[in-house]
Amino acid sequence: MAIIINLNMNISSKNVLLLCSLLGIGLSVFAGCFFYEKETRAIEVNFQNDVEDKVAVLESEMRINMEILYALKGLFESSEQVSASEFSNISKQILLRHPDIQALQWTPKVEHKNRSVYEKHKTFEVPGYQITERIEQGLMSTASERALYYPIDYIEPLSSNEKAFGFDMGSQRALLQTLQKSGDFDLVLSTGLINLVQTPQAAFLTFIPIYQGAPFTIEKRRRHLQGFVSGVFIIEKLFERAMRRTNADDINFNLLDISGNREVLLLRSYGQDFKESYQAPFSYQKSIQTYSGRQWAIDAQPSRDYISERRTMVPVTTSLLGIILVLSSTIYTLALIARNKVIEHTVSDRTDALNAAKKELEILTRTDALTKIANRRYFDQRLDLEWKRAVREKSTLSLIMIDIDYFKLFNDRYGHPEGDFCLIEVAAMLEKSFSRSSDFVARYGGEEFVAILPQTKNAAEVAERCRKNIESLRIEHKDSKVSSYVSVSLGVTSLCPTGECRMVDIVNRADRALYQAKERGRNKVFVLTD
Ligand code: GH3
Ligand code: MG
Ligand code: MG
Repeated sequence: MAIIINLNMNISSKNVLLLCSLLGIGLSVFAGCFFYEKETRAIEVNFQNDVEDKVAVLESEMRINMEILYALKGLFESSEQVSASEFSNISKQILLRHPDIQALQWTPKVEHKNRSVYEKHKTFEVPGYQITERIEQGLMSTASERALYYPIDYIEPLSSNEKAFGFDMGSQRALLQTLQKSGDFDLVLSTGLINLVQTPQAAFLTFIPIYQGAPFTIEKRRRHLQGFVSGVFIIEKLFERAMRRTNADDINFNLLDISGNREVLLLRSYGQDFKESYQAPFSYQKSIQTYSGRQWAIDAQPSRDYISERRTMVPVTTSLLGIILVLSSTIYTLALIARNKVIEHTVSDRTDALNAAKKELEILTRTDALTKIANRRYFDQRLDLEWKRAVREKSTLSLIMIDIDYFKLFNDRYGHPEGDFCLIEVAAMLEKSFSRSSDFVARYGGEEFVAILPQTKNAAEVAERCRKNIESLRIEHKDSKVSSYVSVSLGVTSLCPTGECRMVDIVNRADRALYQAKERGRNKVFVLTD
């Protein structure tokens, strides 16, 4: 039972330990994940700041572009007639500082009735000049007839924009719409994504209308519109210039025009190592102020490098340290449990050995050393027990005192060792002679034995059987005066003890009976009856 409980306790304590270890490992992993998540959030905030930096720079670039156009507008407003060289000079100065601007241009409004005069006039400057339109990319032809033309009159630098010179911006629907709106409402307006006639790069144009005077109705503006100052901007160049002014690299961008119903991708700026399969843990979209009627936005994603550069070892270290701590504690506790088990086994083994030794000692203390039957000490205990039981149960208790006849003479003739052997044989035979389990025989002392027979009335018969059994051993005793063999005399007495009787009485009576048996010639049973 104790072993089973111990075993159960061992199993359950191991299960608890295992559960605690799993919990500890789980907590360590959780702590790692928690720090990882916190770090990701910190990187995200950092990333948003970086993107906002870039957006701010992009906005400042756009503002500078606007200011450049306003400077040109000022030129036209301060002079009745701006000559080509005047425009070219100022534009050149501007472009020196802003070489990434594709072109600065002046576009007058030309009514159809004035077209031929306009073209003729221009032929003086540029032989063969005519207003053109685009058939397809890179292929120009004479502009078709329409009410109004917006030909590019001055363009700086001319060298990389020759195809655009004379190009009627009214011939393209997207451009015309922006021009009309800009002219009607006196607005600085940018186009959406435009395919330039001079280069296939994605670009946009920004217009500022120039009027005669300061008209304030649509009607008057249409009438007094002189033309437009415009700038041509290659999106990629504009973007790159802005990005050069910021610090953080490794950010992937989509520059979007979100003015219309659907988003238009203006530019995709992704690192070379970008893989489509890569899923960034977060992204950030931020709108950009263009100052020219369009709504742009940046959709940014951190690259793998951006994140890995900012990651620390804290989450992994936390998890690992936690797991190592939990595992080492578990191993240490398991070792303690194993050690305890060994100690428990040792203690249990020693207790068993001690109990066995105690039992053996107990047997030894109540056993006669020579004959190996009960000794006098044990007899006294047993008699006390049986006496009390007989008093309680009011039953008959019998006692037989047994004495070997002429044993001194036996010793004298055959020697002590043979005498000892005789005592052993007699004791063994006496033990065999008492059949009931409650009967008890002990060596009383020397060559005397005593038997207790509880609840026995026919003790005389038992004593007679003993006497015969001893005789039947046929141990030669030539010096005996009653037999040729070892014989015994037996004194029997039976008592039903009452409160007045003492235990010593029964011993004395048995002794007296034995004395009588001797007196009456030995090798006899004598029963004391009164
Ligand atoms: P009786 O017939 O009157 O009983 O005469 P007895 O000789 O038997 O009685 P007695 O009391 O005169 O002598 C007892 C002898 O028993 C004396 C002693 O040497 C012997 N004896 C007692 N204990 C032992 C023992 O342990 N071993 C041996 N060998 N002899 C013993
Ligand atoms: Mg004697
Ligand atoms: Mg004797």
